[in-house]
Amino acid sequence: DHLVNQIAAGEVVERPASALKEMLENSLDAGATSVTVDLAQGGIKLIRVTDNGGGIAAEDLALALDRHATSKIGSLSELEEVGTLGFRGEGLASIASVSRLTLISRTAEDAHAHQIVAIDGALHPVEPAAHAPGTTVEVVDLYFNTPARRKFLKSENTEYAHCAATFERIALAYPEVEFLLRNNGKAVWRLPAQSLEDRVAALLGKEFVNAALPLGTEAGGLSLRGFVASPTYSKASRDAQYFYVNGRFVRDKTAQHALRQAYRDVLHHDRHPAYALFLTLDPGGVDVNVHPTKIEVRFRESQAIHQFLFHSVNKTLAATMA
Ligand code: ADP
Ligand code: MG
Repeated sequence: DHLVNQIAAGEVVERPASALKEMLENSLDAGATSVTVDLAQGGIKLIRVTDNGGGIAAEDLALALDRHATSKIGSLSELEEVGTLGFRGEGLASIASVSRLTLISRTAEDAHAHQIVAIDGALHPVEPAAHAPGTTVEVVDLYFNTPARRKFLKSENTEYAHCAATFERIALAYPEVEFLLRNNGKAVWRLPAQSLEDRVAALLGKEFVNAALPLGTEAGGLSLRGFVASPTYSKASRDAQYFYVNGRFVRDKTAQHALRQAYRDVLHHDRHPAYALFLTLDPGGVDVNVHPTKIEVRFRESQAIHQFLFHSVNKTLAATMA
C-alpha cells in the first residue's frame, strides 16, 4: 500500500505547490476563516498550513491519512454533486507517503488537540497535543524517501514561485477568508477578510482593478462575476487570466476560447485578455473528476457555457466602447 501511495503521489503531488494546494483546499473544505501558510526553502523543506476550521476528532486522525478515506462524500452518486474542493481522499495519504507529515487537530468539542505523525508512510500512535480549535498539517522534507522524484524538483526559487502562485489563485477565490503566507519566516502576503474587489486589488494590483470592468450576470442557472480588463488595458499577459468554476481555479479551453472571442469581437485584433472570473453552476453540470489535480473540468453543456461566457463578457466590453 505504501508503494501504491507513492505512485499515486507522483500524480497528485508533483511538487511542493501541489501539496500546498491539497492542504489549502482541505482547510477551506473544513470551513476555515483564517489560514496561515509557512514555507521553508520553497516548500521543499517545510510546508505548514494552520487553519481555524472544524478540525478532526482524535479517532479519525489515522483515517485522514488513509488512502481513499474521505469524510466529504459517502457514495458514488454524491460524486456528481460534489460541493467540496476535495473528494478522493488521496491528498493527505499521498503527501504522507513521500514526506514526514504531522497532523495536529482539535474540534470545537475537544478539551485539547491530538496529533499523529507519519514518516515514510508509517503512522505513529495518536498523542495529545496543544492547538487551538482547527488543524495544522506540517509537511517536512518532501520526497526525502524518493530520491528519483526529488531530483525533478527545481531550484528553491522556482518551487517557491509555484507555491506562491498556488496560494494566490486560491486566496483570490476566497476573499472572505483571511490568509497569511510566510516564506523562510518573512511575511509575503497578509490578506485580511475583504471584498472581492479589494482581494483582486491586493493580489493582481490596483492598476488591474482600476482598468477593470466589474461583471455580474446570471442566466439559465449559470452565474458569472468578477472583473475583466478594459479593452484598452495593455499590460495583460497570460499570467493575468484567472478563471474559476465553483471556486476552483481551472484551465479550460471552452472558457479561454469564449473569452478570447469576446475580446476579439470588440477589438478586432488579438491580445491576451486579462480577467478574474468566477463561474458558478449546479455541481451536476460539471465533472471535476477528470484530472488528478482537478485543474481541468468537463462541462455537461459546454456549448451553453461558451455562449454564456461570450455574451456576458462581450456585452460588458462593448458597453465601454459605445
Ligand atoms: P479529501 O480532501 O479528498 O477528503 P484528503 O486526503 O485531502 O482527502 O483529506 C482526508 C480527510 O482528512 C478529509 O476528508 C478530512 O476529513 C480530513 N482533513 C484533512 N485536512 C483537514 C483540515 N485542514 N481540517 C479538517 N479536516 C481535514
Ligand atoms: Mg483534500
